[in-house]
Amino acid sequence: MTAHNQLALIAQQILNCRKCPLHKTRKNPVPGEGNPQAKTILIGEAPGYWEDIKGKPFVGAAGKFLDTLLATANLTRQQIYITNILKCRPPRNRPPQPDETKACTPYLDKQIQTIKPKIIITLGNHATAYIFQKAQLPYTSITRQHGKPQNAKLLGIRLTIYPTFHPAAALHNPKYKTLLQQDFQKLKQTLNQT
Ligand code: URA
Repeated sequence: MTAHNQLALIAQQILNCRKCPLHKTRKNPVPGEGNPQAKTILIGEAPGYWEDIKGKPFVGAAGKFLDTLLATANLTRQQIYITNILKCRPPRNRPPQPDETKACTPYLDKQIQTIKPKIIITLGNHATAYIFQKAQLPYTSITRQHGKPQNAKLLGIRLTIYPTFHPAAALHNPKYKTLLQQDFQKLKQTLNQT
C-alpha cells in the first residue's frame, strides 16, 4: 500500500475512534495533514477551538504564527506532515491526560512508521516528552532541551528529533516568540545536514 493510502486508512480509523471520552465532546477529529513523503514531521499537542471546527491541524492563531516560523526555516506545509499527540480537542483546551495519550498515540506511531521521516520537530512539552520517552532519550524540560537536535532510533527509524516550544506559548509570552524564532532559524542547519 502507498504511504498516501496508508495515511488515509489511519485517518479513517481516527474519524471512527471512540477509544477515549474525547470523542463525545469533539466536533471533528484532526488526524493530521501534509506530504506522505515528508522528510519532516511536526507534532503538536492537541487540536484547539478552530482545529476542532475545521478538522485540520494548526489553523488557529498558533497556526498563523507557526506559518511564519516555517517560512523562517524555508519550509512549506506542502513539504511536511503536521499532526498532534491527541487527535481530538480536550474540553477548554486543557492538557492531555495520560489515559488519553495512551489511547491516542498508537495512531501517531502508525503515522510515523508510514512516513518514516528524517526529522521530527516536537512542539512543546507534551509532544517532546512523548517522543523522547518513545526513543528512550532522557528528557528534563523543554526549557533545557529546546533547539538541540538529538539523533535517535524511534520505532525502528533512525532520525533526528528537534524539540522546541509550542507556538501557542509565544501568544502569551513574547520571550517564547524570540526563542521559537531562534530555534527555527537554527533548524535550517539541521535540515541541510539530514
Ligand atoms: N495547538 C496544537 O498543539 N495543535 C493544533 O493543531 C493547534 C493548536
